[in-house]
Amino acid sequence: ADGGALAPIQDYLNEIHARISKIEGGAPAAYIPELGKVDPKLFGIAIATVDGQLYTVGDARVPFTIQSVSKPFMYGYALQHHGRSRVLEKVGVEPTGEAFNSILLDEAANRPFNPMVNAGAIAVAEMMQGDTLQQRTNNMLELFSSLAARKIEIDEAVYKSELATGHRNRAIAYMMLNTAMIEHDPEEVLELYFRQCALSVTACDLAVMAATLANDGTNPVTDHKIFDTQYVRDVLTVMNSCGMYDYAGEWAYEVGMPAKSGVSGCIIAAIPGQIGICVYAPPIDTQGNSVRGIAVCQDMSREFQLHSFYNHTNV
Ligand code: GLU
Repeated sequence: ADGGALAPIQDYLNEIHARISKIEGGAPAAYIPELGKVDPKLFGIAIATVDGQLYTVGDARVPFTIQSVSKPFMYGYALQHHGRSRVLEKVGVEPTGEAFNSILLDEAANRPFNPMVNAGAIAVAEMMQGDTLQQRTNNMLELFSSLAARKIEIDEAVYKSELATGHRNRAIAYMMLNTAMIEHDPEEVLELYFRQCALSVTACDLAVMAATLANDGTNPVTDHKIFDTQYVRDVLTVMNSCGMYDYAGEWAYEVGMPAKSGVSGCIIAAIPGQIGICVYAPPIDTQGNSVRGIAVCQDMSREFQLHSFYNHTNV
């Protein structure tokens, strides 16, 4: 940010951060033991524009694990490398209204409902290319590093914590082995999935990643083209309908931005052609969404008319 015309955005961020800091409620996720150790007072916001400017306030450079915010990007990768019809054989695009860790499959197709619930994300994780788990891990790290425009690494403590306790995800993976939605050793697929969830990122990183979606798949910081236009549209569509757990319908109604949240307390949103947003505040509500994250996006949507169905030609 270099003064003048940019100052109003920074002023706005400072103001909304102070305003939403007063909102309490929720608690950090603790079902992955390591996640429960976080400082619940952390609160950061980052905005990246499609021309590569970054605005931040608060704890925007504090690392946390990406958790489910990895899912839309892994889905984009799967589409980019396998094409739409192959990916649709393994995972649908239907919202569930169920919790993120729902164990239900779509009975008609035996498929997970969508790539934003754990079942769908585990099926998508299997589509990472590479002959060995190590190669697949490296390719995954390369994907996220290119999205964040810096080297991304795995938080080993969170990874090990989830590997040791993620029995429900293990059950989901074996159930999908039973229906042939995954075809390789479920333990290896899960290891990649848990590593993907344990990527260590900051709100700044996630804002740049969201801005890559807003910028038609080209990282606005590096100008590197990561996803084709058609697949960016697919990713944003499932974020819009399924990105906020079983709050997705209300979110689409009220906030109206394609978004994804993670149980570490992060939310990203992308406004095509404009900005990527990330809010990080660990206390989450019963549906798994950051309490302050929702509040920030609600206010920003209203104050800047960012709802996707707002008719800007009519004012
Ligand atoms: N790694 C977490 C799990 O699978 C991700 C949950 C989330 O952020 O929704 O339980």
